[in-house]
Amino acid sequence: MTALLDVKDLRAYYGAVQALHGLDFALDQGSLTALLGANGAGKTTTLRAICNMVRSTGSIEFDGAALAGRATENIVRLGIAHVPQGRGTFASLSVAENLQLGAISRRDREIAADLERVYAHFPVLRQRHRQQAGTLSGGEQQMLAVARALMLRPRLMLLDEPSFGLAPLMVAELFRILGRINREDKVTILVVEQNAELALALADQAYVIETGRIVMAGAAAAIAANPDVRKSYLGY
Ligand code: ATP
Repeated sequence: MTALLDVKDLRAYYGAVQALHGLDFALDQGSLTALLGANGAGKTTTLRAICNMVRSTGSIEFDGAALAGRATENIVRLGIAHVPQGRGTFASLSVAENLQLGAISRRDREIAADLERVYAHFPVLRQRHRQQAGTLSGGEQQMLAVARALMLRPRLMLLDEPSFGLAPLMVAELFRILGRINREDKVTILVVEQNAELALALADQAYVIETGRIVMAGAAAAIAANPDVRKSYLGY
């Protein structure tokens, strides 16, 4: 398999504070990869660095193109959609308006077809397409954030703790849909999660980071079976 995203010696800085200390990792085309680690390990910073939202050095190649020096909107246009923690949907706009905004940077006219495709993944959003986003439940808002990112027709989706604050049933439903998006729409996914058990069940590859360094990498099943991971992240 060829790597869709290839990251080498990635270092990131907040002022004088160095948050990432030379990460090397690759995402295979079509893969679903989990990025695990404790609070403050550098997971969010890794996603921000890919989108050039934090000062960083090192090399990031997306489908062979170097991302260094590109503006974030340019990176989005290349096909990388970022769903940050906190969702960032527009509370006063309806579900449908939020989804249409998701496609705003696209130039083609196939938005209606994409809305259909997105509603097929998230039937609850179709039911609520006229409802103000701010009045949706937490889980529905997270679904809207993922759906909006899908409207970009991304080749790579970066998800920052999609399970955060959601009820367990909602998390299971969301992860099931993420698996379908990965398999059926062939969207490569990098998901940052504190819920290691769920993320490892969903992912095919995983990386564990500690204080800005990758300490473990491999097949998700092997990482899930690792005794250190079980003790530190799975609690058994
Ligand atoms: P969490 O699960 O808590 O979000 P994380 O693994 O995503 O953790 P990051 O948010 O990437 O961790 O943080 C990595 C390091 O960078 C931490 O030491 C954090 O304190 C620091 N950091 C993050 N954002 C900033 C900021 N805006 N200014 C200064 N330091 C920051």
